[in-house]
Order: sequence, then C-alpha cells, then structure tokens
Amino acid sequence: MVSLEGVSKSFEGRAVIHRTSLQIGARERVALIGPSGCGKSTLLRMILGLVIPDTGTVTVGKVQVTEATAREVRRRIGYVIQDGGLFPHLTAEDNVTLVARLGGMPTERMRARVDELVDLAGLPKTLLARYPRALSGGERQRVGLMRALMLDPDVLLLDEPLGALDPIIRARLQEDLRTAFQRLGKSVVIVTHDMGEAAYLADSIAVMRDGRIVQQGGVRDLIDHPADPFVSEFVGAQR
Ligand code: ATP
Ligand code: MG
Repeated sequence: MVSLEGVSKSFEGRAVIHRTSLQIGARERVALIGPSGCGKSTLLRMILGLVIPDTGTVTVGKVQVTEATAREVRRRIGYVIQDGGLFPHLTAEDNVTLVARLGGMPTERMRARVDELVDLAGLPKTLLARYPRALSGGERQRVGLMRALMLDPDVLLLDEPLGALDPIIRARLQEDLRTAFQRLGKSVVIVTHDMGEAAYLADSIAVMRDGRIVQQGGVRDLIDHPADPFVSEFVGAQR
C-alpha cells in the first residue's frame, strides 16, 4: 500500500534521511520508533508528500508521490499529530467535517459519518459542540482521529498520538485505537517512543537511528535478535 524505496533527504546540507526503505502492506500496522531527531516525522511527511525526497521514491497505492501528485495522495491519507493539531477557532465537529464540507459532501451523509466516528473514536457526542481549548488532551486526540478518518482514507499516519497523555487516559486510548484499527483494517504507521505501545498497536516495529531504519521485526525478534548494540540498548532501555 505504501512503499518508500531508498529515500534520502538533506536539509541545509545535513542528511536527515539516509537511503531508507519501508513497505507497509494493505491492513498492515507498523510502529516507527527511535530517538528524538532520528527522522520519524520526516518519514511520515514524505508519505504525505509534504517532504519530497532528494533520491528514492515514495508510492501510495499505485501513485508515486511527487509535488504534482501530493494533493491527490493526501486525500487518501488520514494524519494525526501530537495534541490532535485541531484548529482552535473551530468547534470539534467543524474540525472533523471541514474537509468533507469543502469537498461538497451532502449534509445527511456527513451527519451519518460523524455518528459512526464518535462511536469508533469513543467520544461522547455532546463534546463535539466544544472548541478544542475546552477539551482534554485525550479528547482532542479522539477528535483528531475522527478528523483523520472522516473521508475513509486507505492509510492512517499517527505521529505520537498519545505522547502527552497521562498513563490512565493513554491506556484507555491505546485500547480504543487497537479496536479501531482492527475494525477498520487500514494501513497504519504509528510513531511512538514507547516499545510497549508499539508492540500493542502494531504488527511490526521499525527501529530508526540517524535517518535509517536499522531493523524491522516483531517485538520478540528485536529483543532476541537485535541487529546491533543500538537496537539492543534501545529496546532494553524500554523494558
Ligand atoms: P521527535 O521524536 O523529536 O519528534 P523525529 O524523529 O520526528 O524527532 P524529525 O522531526 O523527523 O525527527 O527531524 C529529523 C531531523 O531533521 C531533526 O534534526 C530536525 O531538526 C531536522 N529537520 C526536520 N525538518 C526540517 C526542515 N524543514 N528544515 C531543516 N531541518 C529539518
Ligand atoms: Mg517527530
């Protein structure tokens, strides 16, 4: 579904992504994990066509992501960033429906879709009338998830969606995300700093360091057969 083949990117002469490849199949969920600054968000931004690689190719479905196709590709991708990334001047509901409205989705269909999504995201419907500042961090994340799913994308990208939440809310949202992933059957890339979360939410874990994916596998593979001391230390430090 999503394929990055030998992609590289430099910013201001500094290489941030080095000849990296990653494949995510239909319905497959991959967690991207690695130290701060290793290039996780940049890799997601490449899938979205917000960063175009200097070398290598990115394809989503059958379409190669270029400046010319990026907008079209983005329509098939749902994207959730840390703290939800909601527009502060719109209510939660307007955040969720904005793009659908701009695209001319009929009101009845939009309402039905919102009803499906509150159920899926586990958000009390009454909260949709509120502005983001009147929602908790966890609630904002649920609204962000609803917004990402509104147009039923093929691919869901989540950049540390649970980063700033307290442990109890986090655990609850992890459970709900897992259920939603299972029900939806989409291709998912989820960035996290937490091995436990990665293991719980994804089929495999891709460990990044200095702009490269150094190893991809199940949590047991990474623990039992780390590719190098870095993976061993990174995985070990989390247990
Ligand atoms: P974190 O876990 O802290 O979110 P990350 O793994 O997501 O980190 P990225 O945001 O991908 O890291 O950034 C990787 C490196 O690329 C960082 O050193 C960052 O400063 C740099 N970088 C990212 N975008 C740009 C840009 N547009 N211009 C210059 N440097 C950039
Ligand atoms: Mg990041």
